[in-house]
Amino acid sequence: MKKILFLILFLIAALPCLAQTDNDAVYFEDDDEEPVEEADSTQTVIELRTAIDTIHTKDKYTDVILFDNQTWEYLTHPRPGIDSTSIYDGWWNTETLHAYISYPKDSIPAEVDLLLVDETHGFKVPYQTKVHSGFKWRRRRPHTGVDLPLDTGDSVRVAFDGVVRLSSGSRTGGYGNLIVVRHSNGLETYYGHLSKRLAIPGEPVKAGEVIGLGGSTGRSTGPHLHFETRYKGQAFDPERLIDFENGALRQALFTLKKDYFNIYSHYGQTEKQEAEAKAQAVAASQAQYYKVRSGDTLSRIASRHGTTVSRLCQLNGIKSTKILRVGERLRVR
Ligand SMILES: [Zn+2]
Repeated sequence: MKKILFLILFLIAALPCLAQTDNDAVYFEDDDEEPVEEADSTQTVIELRTAIDTIHTKDKYTDVILFDNQTWEYLTHPRPGIDSTSIYDGWWNTETLHAYISYPKDSIPAEVDLLLVDETHGFKVPYQTKVHSGFKWRRRRPHTGVDLPLDTGDSVRVAFDGVVRLSSGSRTGGYGNLIVVRHSNGLETYYGHLSKRLAIPGEPVKAGEVIGLGGSTGRSTGPHLHFETRYKGQAFDPERLIDFENGALRQALFTLKKDYFNIYSHYGQTEKQEAEAKAQAVAASQAQYYKVRSGDTLSRIASRHGTTVSRLCQLNGIKSTKILRVGERLRVR
């Protein structure tokens, strides 16, 4: 009896052990299959992870994607390059100033990145001097470039590699002797008032090559280079790209904003001034004009258009004592 009791006690004590042994057996069985199961579970984790955040890096073409399983990956975006084949973009024309005249302006994105230089494509300032007159509204018309004073006969150099699109001394409006160079990033640079043109349409040019000599042809009151930068036919302030006084390019990668095509928008503006420039452009687009008739006076015109004489003077850059000419156009709004 004592022996039987002992046996029962022994069995009770050993039961957890036996059970443990049983568990161990299951565990080891699992262990044998582990490599297969492990591989499966890892794959499942990758497929199921969810991107929870995107972090922008200093390099605007590289982001870091964070996943909910605490892993991360680089995400790279295509970088702009310099590809000379893009010069002939379907709007290539060596006969006219206005190659992009029917280009749909709406299709230009709000921002476009333009690579200006790389290891094999350089830059040279067209003419190094202090800017005499900048990109702005000037004497009742937009001045869509910068004026760089020089002596007649001074060398004018092409800013970037490209192909000469236009080289002409006639039908160039006020530009006189003009050379237009198309660059592979889509930019065009204009070199006006030249005394001599030294490049022909279709000619490939390298940055720094002399393409003409400075002069005073066309609508010009003295020898200077009128230099413009345009994208799809739209002019923007060249000083955004180039520090003319120091002969330096401001940056290799330039972000061109559609807002820059506004004649009131120029390099060095604060955010507040940029907003004012936008408002100015809107006001200008809503401008109304009146043709002066016989017997008109400023006060009569003002009252007829619900405005004041001082506002008329401000809008037209005139004095209240100005003598009006019949047929003259005055801005009234
Ligand atoms: Zn000019």
